Amino acid sequence: MSNNNLNVHSIESFATLEGVGIRFALFLQGCPYRCVYCHNPDTWYGGGRGSIVTIDEVFTKMSHYKGFYKNGGGLTVTGGEPLLHASKIIELFRRVREELGLTNTIDTSCAVMPDCIDELLAYTDLVIIDLKFHNNADYDKFAKGSLDNTIAMLDKTLEKGVNVWVRTVVVPDINDTTDDMDKYINIINKYPHISKYELLGYHSMGEFKYAELGIKYALEGVEQLQPSKLKALQQYVNERRI
Ligand code: SF4
Repeated sequence: MSNNNLNVHSIESFATLEGVGIRFALFLQGCPYRCVYCHNPDTWYGGGRGSIVTIDEVFTKMSHYKGFYKNGGGLTVTGGEPLLHASKIIELFRRVREELGLTNTIDTSCAVMPDCIDELLAYTDLVIIDLKFHNNADYDKFAKGSLDNTIAMLDKTLEKGVNVWVRTVVVPDINDTTDDMDKYINIINKYPHISKYELLGYHSMGEFKYAELGIKYALEGVEQLQPSKLKALQQYVNERRI
């Protein structure tokens, strides 16, 4: 793939959940993790999946809607794992900041730490970090990933002074106890640059995609997290934030 090409899963021109204000959300293809609750398994594979779109095309499309991205809005790269595409995102972020005067957000699971991370963070206003589990064993078991990678990104964003939000998906019988919350908060409280810690309730809305892809869904039969329980856990962690 040439240096100007991005492997794009999809684009949302008016996203509201991926950072501050209204955002142009760019979902990039490819992810090395395999989270049991992933609702985008169709983003897992790179190669022939997704659409090849040039950086110019993405920038031009976003420019059309520039007027909508007020009050801190702008571009969010997500996925899949957007950091797989870090060197290309730098150019896009630079143009969004310098030519459009808008903000840049990375929504990442920290599955990889690219060599160019310092340069990328220089053009980044907010990193939304997915803190999946509070120990390496659960990361490995439920995501084929590693807590160490997430800690490395928390350290790096702290060093570079970049604003961070952290999110955790809470799954019944996997990470939904107050003991789990204590362990998450132990991590969160070490990082004063985290401006928001948000819990998200597990739901199975992506399950049908597994059937379409012929992949077994690991959480078959697991109920969604009850909103009342999510609210109580969120209150529990809020009360323990330093
Ligand atoms: S890191 Fe994100 S895209 Fe990758 S498997 Fe996990 S939830 Fe899915």
